[in-house]
Amino acid sequence: MKQIIARLLIYLTPALSQIGHAQAYLSSKQVQSYYKKASTEHSSFVSYRHLGKSKRQKDIFYLTISKNTFPANAPSIYFNASHHGNEKLSTEIVYYLTKYIIDHRDSPFLDSILREYILVLQPIVNPDGFDFNTRNDTLGQDPNRDYPFPRRGEEESFRLKETQMVKQILDNHHVFAALSFHSGMSGVLWPWCYSEKRTFDHDIFREISTRISQTMKIQTTKQSYYNYPSRGEFIDYAYMKYRTLALTVELPNPVGTQQFKESVQKGVAGSLDFIRLVQLYHQDKLSYLPKFDRHKF
Ligand SMILES: [Zn+2]
Repeated sequence: MKQIIARLLIYLTPALSQIGHAQAYLSSKQVQSYYKKASTEHSSFVSYRHLGKSKRQKDIFYLTISKNTFPANAPSIYFNASHHGNEKLSTEIVYYLTKYIIDHRDSPFLDSILREYILVLQPIVNPDGFDFNTRNDTLGQDPNRDYPFPRRGEEESFRLKETQMVKQILDNHHVFAALSFHSGMSGVLWPWCYSEKRTFDHDIFREISTRISQTMKIQTTKQSYYNYPSRGEFIDYAYMKYRTLALTVELPNPVGTQQFKESVQKGVAGSLDFIRLVQLYHQDKLSYLPKFDRHKF
């Protein structure tokens, strides 16, 4: 993993040094045009998927990357960002992750991943909020409180087109694991958000979260409820519906160009580490034995 991070630093430095100021984030148009171009230039393994339009008629899209010859059956690993439109760093992380994966697709690590998995990348969940730089959608509704969870069914959820489209992604792909990027605080969080109860996969969640938080130098790693309780989050829905190993990753909003570069590097390195850990788990090589603290509860 250290080698991957070292290579990542060398790779990302020239691309990120073109950014003069931390506030010079990519526009939604720039992100979309790169995703379209990537699928045209690398059509054998990259596909651009159009999901629909937001309330303000912005395109909602994602990309799949895979060398698997039977993609319908392949397990997927899903990355999304900008549920909250003013959390621009999260989109940059998924954007640079996409670029890194495409540019390094033939490295031994990514080659083995792309033969086994479909990587699903959605850089902007909430394009209206993104373009207006607001947390919520244009009606002031928070997309990351709009999902079903064990105490609220689908009929009372999915009021927003944006979350319905995330649902489509989960329904269309066998999403085994997912990272949902946010920016503001610092933490790696796992389900449940709505309850203090532990999930069946608590020990796996804790092991993977602890390891990627070390890679990203994030101190806070816990079940989301113990960060703060919330209802209707993406990770609770993905876990409840498909038992997806879904985590929220929060990175602090950077101040200045240097911190911005470091935050993007951390997010990309953490994502690559996450992919590696998911593969290890599938190969039954990830140790996640219950630790002593289970007796506290
Ligand atoms: Zn957020």
